[in-house]
Amino acid sequence: MIDVDEMQQRLREFADARDWEKYHSPKNLVMAMSVEMAELMEHFQWMTEQQSLDLDTKTREKVALEMADVLIYLVRMADRCGIDLDHAVEKKLLLNGQKYPVVK
Ligand SMILES: [Mg+2]
Repeated sequence: MIDVDEMQQRLREFADARDWEKYHSPKNLVMAMSVEMAELMEHFQWMTEQQSLDLDTKTREKVALEMADVLIYLVRMADRCGIDLDHAVEKKLLLNGQKYPVVK
């Protein structure tokens, strides 16, 4: 399981050690995340639905690294915005449950 707090701490230390804090504004981070999303999507461009479900090992590894890029920027951005992602996810799941109730 991903520990968001630990991840934020590690990313903060990584950026701080490289003097990258000055580049990590929320504006820059959301743009970087969007670029990484495009890199992730590129792997799936022109695939059929079935091909997207049956990734070969090499493609799956590349996709995993792009997903990590997206998550890293998201977690970093939350840190820089002072947003508690655990709390935000709990709240959103609650709202989604109310918006889309289970139909029996
Ligand atoms: Mg990337």
